[in-house]
Order: sequence, then structure tokens, then C-alpha cells
Amino acid sequence: MKLRIAVIGAGIVGSLISRELSKYDLELHLIEKNPDVGWGTTKANSAIIHAGYDDPPGTMRARFCVLGNELYGELSRELDFDFRRIGSHVVAFTEEEMEILEDLMDRGMKNGVQNLRILDREELLSMEPNLNPSVKASLWAPSAGITEPWEVAISAVENAMENGLNLHLNERVLEISVERGKVRRVKTNKGEYDVDIVINCAGVHADDIAKMAGAEPFDILPRKGEYILLDEDAHVVNSIIFPTPTKKSKGILILPTIDGGTLLGPTAEDLPKSKKDDLETTKDGIERIKRACLKLVPSLNFSRVLKTFAGMRAETKKMDFIIGKTKVWGFINVAGMRSPGLTAAPAIAKYVVEKIIQEDLGVGLERKKNFKPFRKRIPHIENYGLEEWEEVVKKDPRFGKMVCFCNKVSEGEIVEAIKRGARTLDGVKFRTKAGFGKCQGGFCTLRILEIMSRELGIPIEEIKLNNDEASMMNGKVRE
Ligand SMILES: Cc1cc2nc3c(=O)[nH]c(=O)nc-3n(C[C@H](O)[C@H](O)[C@H](O)COP(=O)(O)OP(=O)(O)OC[C@H]3O[C@@H](n4cnc5c(N)ncnc54)[C@H](O)[C@@H]3O)c2cc1C
Repeated sequence: MKLRIAVIGAGIVGSLISRELSKYDLELHLIEKNPDVGWGTTKANSAIIHAGYDDPPGTMRARFCVLGNELYGELSRELDFDFRRIGSHVVAFTEEEMEILEDLMDRGMKNGVQNLRILDREELLSMEPNLNPSVKASLWAPSAGITEPWEVAISAVENAMENGLNLHLNERVLEISVERGKVRRVKTNKGEYDVDIVINCAGVHADDIAKMAGAEPFDILPRKGEYILLDEDAHVVNSIIFPTPTKKSKGILILPTIDGGTLLGPTAEDLPKSKKDDLETTKDGIERIKRACLKLVPSLNFSRVLKTFAGMRAETKKMDFIIGKTKVWGFINVAGMRSPGLTAAPAIAKYVVEKIIQEDLGVGLERKKNFKPFRKRIPHIENYGLEEWEEVVKKDPRFGKMVCFCNKVSEGEIVEAIKRGARTLDGVKFRTKAGFGKCQGGFCTLRILEIMSRELGIPIEEIKLNNDEASMMNGKVRE
């Protein structure tokens, strides 16, 4: 019988661990309570692949951040997602802040970050002319990059599924049975799975999952971060601009998104445990972001706001990731995934499979001979030359019919997203970016719903925004 492993939570961490495990001969399950992959904290963060100078030397955060950063290049080529090393500046406005830059540089060098440099005002302003002219210097880290976090998770899961992963969406883990000190069964709202190993990647709910298994207890302390997203016309910076960090967070920053927009934020607000799922933005939070960002770039234009949103950090008292085996044999925690969890995730995936499962638990895993490392993204006009795109359209004319004019998304892409598993409007949006542009779906939503209704063979009223309660329509105005 094959070894049976269940991964709980399809965020960036659970998705990349599943993909790493799919290289081995196993019965593998990924269980996610949401209707799609990457809709937890993975959906709402700064999307930075950090260089690794920020975290204290000797911590898991520092170690996996630097290793993870190095892995992103190859990973993006294998899984065909967007990743660009645009570099980051930590900027200083005072003498005291300049001392902090020196400390960060020293820390970065201890962590093994390459090519860090302190830039003087002239060099900094030549790279970032819109910065506040009273800036004094910056710590430049060319290895820092940006990506699309949920796209990384989706691409990893698509590839893992091609290599045998069983994905269970809309399935909430309710109980974990343990017999004679070993993990035995995972019970969900839809069924039960006999397992040998359970990997807890449940984000802000990882403490609840650890409790279900009777493993060593810990608390996840939610810390909310709010953001403002500006459209591509608001372009003001070429790289990631951090203020000098505080003890609590890296501060409120400005960066370009992978689509050419501009992201401002996040705030850092500690919330009670009961508010882990509170993702509302607040007037106070938005005002704080505006004030902090105007200090960095005084010419920012807030009339170009596309949307505001919030993400939840999974903090713990340990102030480090909680990764390892537990007193329950076969139950592994990958928890407390605060920043830089997105950056660290590819390195953590390898560590869990190679060190924790194979060395610490002593379970030998057999590599598949026929593992397929590559996944292709959905074809999109902006990634092709005109003649190449004509060939795509000749093969399937639906790729020639535009549905979302803001982001140039065709009917063919929407059909392909549905084929790859999108079952909600947001599922299509996150896979194709239809409805993510300037009009935020104002013009294309109905057309997307019609295509979904046709492809899925269900009435249009049954299509949901992102969960069972979120109906898009409640009937016809006229028959
Ligand atoms: C404001 C903010 C900014 C950040 N910026 C960065 C950054 O720029 N760079 C960086 O490297 N990191 C950043 N991070 C950290 C990074 O976003 C996280 O470390 C990462 O997304 C965590 O991924 P995850 O898979 O652990 O959690 P999640 O993405 O939350 O995934 C956990 C999944 O578990 C599922 N789940 C929970 N309970 C159950 C259950 N009972 N049954 C089934 N499924 C369940 C959830 O639905 C969820 O999908 C930031 C975080 C925040 C909040």
C-alpha cells in the first residue's frame, strides 16, 4: 500500500508542499475549505519575494527567506508564472535611519544575501526620481522581486494534479483521529481519509488544526494589513520602496505590482483571536496608508484607486515559523507563516519533504520516474507576438473574442480557466484577470457569467461570486 499524506490548506505553503510531494510515489490529498486555491492570506499580501536582510540571523525566517528567494527563478520557469527581480530600497530620511540601514546590511550579509549596497541620495534619486527629495540614502537589494502569489499557488497545484495529487475543494477539516500516538484519519464535512501523515498548512487557523490532533498547543495571533491598489496610470516607482522598519513590521511601502499597478500598504493592526477572518478595510487604515506613502512619494495620485483590501498575518509569540514534527507521530506543523512566508515557501516545501518526513520521521520516499516538472499558463495575448497569437486564434477562434477589454482577456481564456477548475466568478477572475482592470468587472461580469453558465451547464443564477452564500443574481427582472 502507498504511503498516504494529507496536506491541510491550499495556500502558497500547502500548494508548494503538495507539488514537492507529487515528485514521490504516494497517495496525496490536498484539502481546502475554500472553493479555490490560494484564497487565504496568499491572496492578500505585498507579493514581494524578499531579499532576506530583514529577519534576525539564525531564525527559520532568515534561512528559508534567502533559500526561497534563490529558488523562485527556476520555479517560475517550471511553473510558468510571472516573477521579476525588480530590487528593493529601504530608504532613510534621518541620521538615525541611516544607522538602521547599516544594521540591516550587516544582518543581510550574515543571512547570506548577495549584492547589498548602500546608495547615496544622488544614485537613489536617479533610479527613483519620484521619491521625496529629502531622502538621504537607501539599502539596495537587487535580488528582491515581485510575483502574483495566488498564481504561484494555482500553478503548483495544477502541476501537482498532473502528477497525481487529489485536490479537495470546499472541504473543511473538522476532526483528526489519533490512535496509539499516531495520526490515523482526517474527517471533513464531506468524508473521511485514512492517512499516515498530516501536514498542517492551515494559515491563521493552524492552531485550531493542531488542537484537533492533540499536538503541542500554540496560538495564532492575527495581525491585519490593509492596502490600497492604484491602476497602471499611477505608476510612480520602478522598484519596491520600504521605509526603515519598526520592531512590529517592515512599515508601509510602495511597490509596482506584476500587472503594472501600484500597491500601497500594509498597515499592521493586532486583532483578538476571534477576528482571524475579519478582512474589512477601515477609514483609519486607509488614511494611515495615504499619509505614510505621501512621505515616500509626495506626488502620489489617489484618484487612481482601483480597490482597497486586507490580508491577515499569522503571528505567534515565538516570532518565528513553527515548522516540524510534533508529539503526535505523523502530524507535522507548518504554521505561524508570517512574512516572509511567501518568499520562504519553496524552500520550506523541500525542507518538509527531505528533512522532516524523510530524516526526522525516518520515512523513505520513492521518487517517481515519470514526474512532469513543467506546467503552462493559460494563453494570453500580451505574452505572444501578433503572428503567434493569430496561430492561437486559428486553432481556437474563442481566443479572438475579447470579453474583458481592460485586461484584454478572451473567451478562450475564460473557457480554459473553467476547464482548469474555476467554478466561481472569482475563480475565473483570479485565473485570467478578467474583471481585474480599470472597470473592475463593470463591463464584463455579465458576459463571464454567461460563458460560465454555458460551459458548466448550470443556470446563470446558480453561479456564485466566491462562496455558497455569495449569489450574483437573484432572478430575472423581465422574462
Ligand atoms: C499584510 C501581509 C503582507 C505580507 N507580505 C508578504 C510579502 O510581501 N512577502 C512574503 O514573503 N510574505 C508576505 N506575507 C506573508 C505571506 O502572505 C504568508 O506567509 C503566506 O501567504 C502564508 O501562506 P499559507 O499557505 O501559510 O496560508 P494561507 O494562504 O492563509 O493558506 C491557508 C489555507 O488553509 C485553509 N484552511 C484553514 N482551515 C482549514 C480547515 N479547517 N480545513 C481546510 N482548509 C483550511 C484556508 O482556507 C487557507 O486557504 C504577508 C502577509 C500579510 C498578511
